[in-house]
Amino acid sequence: MNIIVTKFGGSSLADATQFKKVKNILEENHNRKYIIPSAPGKRFSKDFKITDLLYLCHAHVKSSIPLDDVFKLIAERYKGIADELNLSIDLEYHLNIIKENIENGASMDYAASRGEYLNGLILANYLNIDFIDAKDVIKFDNHGSLNSEKTYSLLKDKLSTCKRAVIPGFYGSNENGDIVTFSRGGSDVTGALVAASLNVDLYENWTDVSGFLMADPRIVESPKKIKTITYGELRELSYMGASVLHEDAVFPVRNAGIPINIRNTNNPEDEGTLIVNEKDIHTNTITGIAGKQNFTVISIEKAMMNSELGFCRKVLTILEQHGISFENMPSGIDTVCVVISDANLKNKTNIVVDEIKRSCNPDSIVVYPNMALIATVGSGMAYTKGVASKIFTALSDADINIRMIDQGSSEINILVGIENEDFEKGINAIYKVFNN
Ligand code: ASP
Repeated sequence: MNIIVTKFGGSSLADATQFKKVKNILEENHNRKYIIPSAPGKRFSKDFKITDLLYLCHAHVKSSIPLDDVFKLIAERYKGIADELNLSIDLEYHLNIIKENIENGASMDYAASRGEYLNGLILANYLNIDFIDAKDVIKFDNHGSLNSEKTYSLLKDKLSTCKRAVIPGFYGSNENGDIVTFSRGGSDVTGALVAASLNVDLYENWTDVSGFLMADPRIVESPKKIKTITYGELRELSYMGASVLHEDAVFPVRNAGIPINIRNTNNPEDEGTLIVNEKDIHTNTITGIAGKQNFTVISIEKAMMNSELGFCRKVLTILEQHGISFENMPSGIDTVCVVISDANLKNKTNIVVDEIKRSCNPDSIVVYPNMALIATVGSGMAYTKGVASKIFTALSDADINIRMIDQGSSEINILVGIENEDFEKGINAIYKVFNN
């Protein structure tokens, strides 16, 4: 029997109209057995997310400010949903307990988690199926780290007796029974854990976009949608800033070989993007293009660097001593470049360069500030001739100077470093050359 774990994001459950869409989606396929809701998100761009309001309630109490006005906004949102859906749930009862607990100093994680908790109760009541409190099945240790082994075993036990259920996302509890949340967007992680614990056939993640696009639509006009992407490609693209999924949601399902389908609640006919372990590499050479701005490249040259023992170690030790992590380190025989994001470099360029000069004695060291990185990602490129040449020609035809080139050893990503000001032009040039 096929089992699908189905997670709905905040915008998919922001009001009663969205709840109705969710019900239709669930009724369309009865394999959608375990449902993970987020807290209600924004209904329009200036609206509030319930989770943000809950954090605000907690902050009010911390500063000894009454939370009534903020809590009223939360209560009204949930009551609006329950009234319009004609639900039998006694919301007032749950809201009073939550308000009282927050007023009496409940933890920040407890406050934040109540968004998913209430939405889960409402959804289970609306669908007329079981509600499983995530605090009983998602377990953390007392340092706040997930205890996957315990979580999997509790989920397996509990779900074996439960044909269909709603399990709220984003939180669980520690060994003392206190509520602990994942980082923001963590309902994705709950969904992944439920899917992995039962080794289900598919993990669906419903949101307000129809999956991943080949490039950022704010940069490229109407980019094509990615139909299938591998976990490896996704990792490269999301690292470069393209993301609709919480990072920690990938590992549980990837390890279990479960595909993730990103779907759009507002356009359920669209098949979305399917994330898989492996795909037919011959269908498309390039899967997506993403990039980030504001990097500094420190380029170091020294004759016979290749035979000097510990040269790179010395460079990296200096970075480590200043708490600076680097993004990339392409190297040649006598050269090595260290690519560091400006946020990580924290204005320490001069100190770092002076220390490298002192301890490594290079022939030259040049700093290139204001750099952008563009990643062109595709698992098919390792088997296709001319991909790099196409990228470089596209950039040169667009009059863009390439400062750095790096192709990771996995051969699914070609990274180029160009000036910040050429960033958008560069992404468009690469997109066009592969989509003509
Ligand atoms: N409601 C939480 C947040 O806003 C978790 C989630 O939506 O996944 O971050």
